[in-house]
Amino acid sequence: MKGTPFDFFVQFHLTERCNLVCRHCYQSGSVSEMNYEEVCGAIAEVKTAIEGWAKDYEMDVSPSLHFTGGEPLLRADLFPILRYAWGCGFSVSVMSNGTLIDRSIAEQLKASEVADVLISLDGMEAAHDSLRGHGAFRSAVEGITVLVGEGVDTNINLTVSRMNMNQTRQLVALAEELGVSGIAFSRLVPSGRGKLLADQALTTQEVAAFYSSLRQYRDNTKVVVTSRDPLAAIAELDGDIPQTELPMGGCAAGMFGVTITADGTVMPCRRMDLPIGNIKTNRFRDLWADSPILWQLRTRKSYHGGCENCRYWPACRGCRAIALALARAKGSEDYLGPDPQCPFYHTC
Ligand code: SF4
Ligand code: SF4
Repeated sequence: MKGTPFDFFVQFHLTERCNLVCRHCYQSGSVSEMNYEEVCGAIAEVKTAIEGWAKDYEMDVSPSLHFTGGEPLLRADLFPILRYAWGCGFSVSVMSNGTLIDRSIAEQLKASEVADVLISLDGMEAAHDSLRGHGAFRSAVEGITVLVGEGVDTNINLTVSRMNMNQTRQLVALAEELGVSGIAFSRLVPSGRGKLLADQALTTQEVAAFYSSLRQYRDNTKVVVTSRDPLAAIAELDGDIPQTELPMGGCAAGMFGVTITADGTVMPCRRMDLPIGNIKTNRFRDLWADSPILWQLRTRKSYHGGCENCRYWPACRGCRAIALALARAKGSEDYLGPDPQCPFYHTC
């Protein structure tokens, strides 16, 4: 509907190659990469779908493309891809481990009109390097420093685990010192290589305590301290939410965004590796409209084990990737069961 912009994003993995071998990475194998023409074709295909929605449903769509990998800076054609995407009308972000960013790279990112660059950290130096390798923290911090120095809007993404859950104060102080715009926390998803770190995942009590602790940064003026985790939004709630049968927020998978992987596979979320088609052979608009998996994610009665009769369903639904990882540990592919780390269930 006109006047209510639909923030729609695609997380676009350009490669599975990486210069690091992080213990918790959700990339678990290597796939073929689309070439430059195929990547541009995929971007154009998403653009066509968005233009169709805007025309047929009189929607205002605010589209963004988040390019990542692997490490996207390993793609020799990254900057032409970024410029093509920007030229197609997308807000463009780059998600990187930060270790390859020098002044020249930062200048090219700036010249490519990226809206922001998101650098992954996993805690302060010892925690980060224990997951990503010796020296990775310092390289990432140098990359952030260079980006900020070149005037590129820079944010830190942090995966929360038991290794770093008590480092929030230091991390926020670091973010302030580095001059980034924000720091965003998300939960460890025990899939891909992350399965090796399953014992580092937070308990329900720790999730409640961690996200409640972020409330103290609500009015922080130097950096925005946030989380895209649905459970963080529930921890932040003051008062009730409207009871609807339609999702109004929460888990983005199939609702506000999807993932395209390096070989063109489309999936609800990169951490939820359930293919729904391929951008090289399917119309994006058809996949979005017709995928049974996406429709189940959007339909309250498909859920079971708690979320379906929880009053927070419209704004939450938990992390479906973590629900899937739990199911897989028990031998099933059920992505609609409970989020095993949820401390906030509240009956309707
Ligand atoms: S039960 Fe489900 S919908 Fe309710 S708060 Fe927990 S994860 Fe969210
Ligand atoms: S499945 Fe989890 S990681 Fe993926 S969009 Fe939903 S909440 Fe985010």
